[in-house]
Amino acid sequence: MVQVCVAFGSNLGDSQSTVHQAIKDVGALASTQLRKASSLYVSAPYQATGGQFVNAVAIYNTQLPALALLEALQDLERIAGRVRLYPNAPRTLDLDIIFYGDVVMDTLRLTLPHPRWQERAFVLKPLAEICPELVGQPSLEKVSNQEIYRL
Ligand code: ADP
Ligand code: MG
Repeated sequence: MVQVCVAFGSNLGDSQSTVHQAIKDVGALASTQLRKASSLYVSAPYQATGGQFVNAVAIYNTQLPALALLEALQDLERIAGRVRLYPNAPRTLDLDIIFYGDVVMDTLRLTLPHPRWQERAFVLKPLAEICPELVGQPSLEKVSNQEIYRL
């Protein structure tokens, strides 16, 4: 059993219900259980384009191998109607693996931990809410210029 952290983002369609549903859908994957989910947050686009994002993070236990989990998350993105028009285009649903246990890897398809999570208030803030031991005050201060609030 591995503890994983998944980050959710949406800035197209009914983002709040898409993210709520996605948090449940990941917990319904084979051999996967939801442990903790953050509140939903609203953030200005950062390293992205389009309107405001709805974001959240959640912690799961899973027995899925990391690549199988990524594929399952990408299936959920497709089901939510995500179309990759161009890099960083507005998206109905973006699912990123922030960490997968303590696995460190860097391949074309999967980099763990996620290479940019410490730069992103929309990951750090919700993660600090559910796992304060993983996010120190200095990390939050580094991203304090990014607009984000809790719904
Ligand atoms: P982004 O999340 O950066 O906005 P995408 O969701 O389109 O962009 O992801 C681009 C690619 O990033 C995916 O096809 C996936 O193979 C790769 N990727 C690498 N590491 C990760 C990770 N930790 N979580 C999710 N996707 C990842
Ligand atoms: Mg992604």
